[in-house]
Amino acid sequence: MKISRLVSKIPGSPTLALTAKVNELKALGKDVIGFTAGEPDFDTPENIKNSAVEALARGSTKYTPVGGMPKLKEAVCAKINEDYGLSVSPENVIVSCGAKHSLYNLFLTLFEGGDEVICPGPYWVSYPPMVEMTGATPVIIDTRPTGMKLHADMVAEAITKRTKGIIINSPANPTGMVIEKNELVKIAELCVKHDIIIISDDIYRKIIFNGLSFFSPAMISPEVAARTFIIDGSSKTYAMTGWRIGYCIGDSKVIKAMERLQSQSTSNPTSFAQDGAITSLTNGQVNSIVAERRRIFEKRRDLIVTKLQEIPGIDVIPPNGTFYAFPSINGYMDRFGNSTAFSEYLIEKALVALVPGGEFGAPNHVRFSFATSEGNIIKGMDRIKEALASLK
Ligand code: PMP
Repeated sequence: MKISRLVSKIPGSPTLALTAKVNELKALGKDVIGFTAGEPDFDTPENIKNSAVEALARGSTKYTPVGGMPKLKEAVCAKINEDYGLSVSPENVIVSCGAKHSLYNLFLTLFEGGDEVICPGPYWVSYPPMVEMTGATPVIIDTRPTGMKLHADMVAEAITKRTKGIIINSPANPTGMVIEKNELVKIAELCVKHDIIIISDDIYRKIIFNGLSFFSPAMISPEVAARTFIIDGSSKTYAMTGWRIGYCIGDSKVIKAMERLQSQSTSNPTSFAQDGAITSLTNGQVNSIVAERRRIFEKRRDLIVTKLQEIPGIDVIPPNGTFYAFPSINGYMDRFGNSTAFSEYLIEKALVALVPGGEFGAPNHVRFSFATSEGNIIKGMDRIKEALASLK
């Protein structure tokens, strides 16, 4: 049977495939250490789980409004207004089946053939294919030459008459980089001047280090906020990746159009998962769990950076947020050619799984997820060091 032209072009998500490979090896009894996970290794906080169980028991099992339960939309508004200093209301919010789904709905609603969407790279794997699915063209800005830092002049250079949107992801997957506030302000000025929509994927906003405060373009001014769409969700902050709850906050006319799209595709996100999400946003106890987990991630960040710095031929810029480190492997490029061959060597020789950087637009890098225990980090990094030393 012939696969449609649209779907033939879509690469499968490589990170999900790799995690499946690690699980397969583990099931065979192999002592694999996986640095591939794009999700916290912690479980969903107990009170969130309990609230979903209670919701099921009381019959929260039916369709909800397409764009999410009113109570959840209100909880999202309260959180966003408090954290960003905005005054959004439920008509500015749509809840979807994960932030990935929110982005997909938003892109399909905003972009089409002939449009260009600026995507700073190394980028999260799904941005370019999602932009392409709309018919638009992703325009990549490579930040490797500037130490993974995005500067406004790089954005200025990428803008053309066709530029319709820019994706801002800070802290970023896979680099862990946080874009400097003054650069974001200058980028936002460019967006106002050239009538460019800002997609601010803020999904890692609670996992930020070195005492840095989270900053989003939506906080700059009402004028910038009016052209910004905030993407957030339950997955990373509350360790709820499997629940599939994400949301988009922005211009009410666009949100309404997204609801029409969602009404003809998935309908509402799962009812009792929405009940759990309400608890995650409204229960005060959850905040201290999130804060504690952030501290744990920062400690692990310090550990993995120290371990990476001990390995010759690998250079890491310490991440300022997320649970990823994204070092270059330039010292091994002559030997392996790219990070896919490098990662294959390490899974075979050291039983350690990494994500090759080619998937993120950086074939001389690899992504380490440190959403794993300190014990695993130490063991895995020691194995890598040994396997690479044995090459000489
Ligand atoms: N944006 C970024 C940058 C991500 O890394 C992810 C998850 N890997 C998502 C969005 C999607 O998250 P979810 O669909 O689980 O809410």
